Amino acid sequence: MEKKTLVPQNVEELKAYVPGKTIAEVVEQYKPEQISKLASNENRLGRSTHIDAAVEEALKIVHDYPDPAAKKLKASVADYCQVSEDMLMFGAGSESLLAGLCRSFFLNKENIITSDATFIGIYVQAKIRGVKVKRIPLTRNFRFDVKAIANAIDKQTKMIYIANPNNPTGTYITREEFEWLLGKVPSNIIIVMDEAYYEYANRIQDYPDVLSYKRENVVVLRTFSKGYGLAGFRVGYAIASPGIIHYLMKTRLAFEPGTLGQAAALAALKDQEFLNRSTTMVEQGKKDLCAFFDKHGIKYAKSAANFVMMELPDEETATFITQKMLEKGVILRHIKGFGLPKCIRVTIGLPEEMIHFKKSLVPLIS
Ligand SMILES: *Cc1c(COP(=O)(O)O)cnc(C)c1O
Repeated sequence: MEKKTLVPQNVEELKAYVPGKTIAEVVEQYKPEQISKLASNENRLGRSTHIDAAVEEALKIVHDYPDPAAKKLKASVADYCQVSEDMLMFGAGSESLLAGLCRSFFLNKENIITSDATFIGIYVQAKIRGVKVKRIPLTRNFRFDVKAIANAIDKQTKMIYIANPNNPTGTYITREEFEWLLGKVPSNIIIVMDEAYYEYANRIQDYPDVLSYKRENVVVLRTFSKGYGLAGFRVGYAIASPGIIHYLMKTRLAFEPGTLGQAAALAALKDQEFLNRSTTMVEQGKKDLCAFFDKHGIKYAKSAANFVMMELPDEETATFITQKMLEKGVILRHIKGFGLPKCIRVTIGLPEEMIHFKKSLVPLIS
């Protein structure tokens, strides 16, 4: 007899998100002297000092629904990105916008092309809609293989998803690769450029300035979660042609992001000094960490984001190191779940956190 389930096959096959350990859980379990949470690519400097006052002010109207058009925030972001307001839509994090893209543009038989070992949100949101995802292997240097992606295009391809820089590898596609891809992808296929780490990557010389190409079929996703340090507020946005935004608006959840998130994001955008401090800290920390890895013969992928992915000799070593570091209060992300069992992702933290990381790691690898 056929086994009946409550839900469709695609939902049956999904696994619920497994969160990393919280600081409170690690303190309770291992009682380490110091805690360094380097697992989730958050901004370890915290947030701009302007946020709290803005949120307190917004609290006065929090009993009412938020502005569904996010008018003030939209005007400010339009100005910041030099785009018109009809090219913007906001949501509860860029993950919500990915969900919206999957809702608005797909019938079951169409597919998305992306890479192996990229942001898990795209696999999940596609699967929820029953959309097939073609996963192209990364190159040997853990980079998106744009040639193989272009070669995988078929009649059913509706979207190409590229995280630039990629999470969990930190690698990015260059201006030259992006231009090559633009030349290969027909205009009826949407190219999604997920730029969650844009604020860190945009200082790199050959990082593509995607908006400057003004392509109708390119969607850029950005977020306030990473560089601006507002992960808990859940604010992200899509920049796309008015035609695409028009269809995204039809399937959106009306009241994302919330009132407090909108206020926090607006205040964050106005404090570019905080952002500069964050990117400077990350740049310095990353340089320092890579020098440390070089010195100790640890392999890693060259990163354009606020984290570095280290590659250990085997899965066993990666599991061992993640666990031992956790016991010492250094929370890392073993990225087995992304399909890279030998690799661990390390968020760049405060200088004292990076010292904690190095001090704890040395005895484990020598
Ligand atoms: C963190 C991350 C996101 C999610 O960001 P939210 O705006 O917090 O939903 C999206 N894409 C990538 C590649 C990320 O690393």
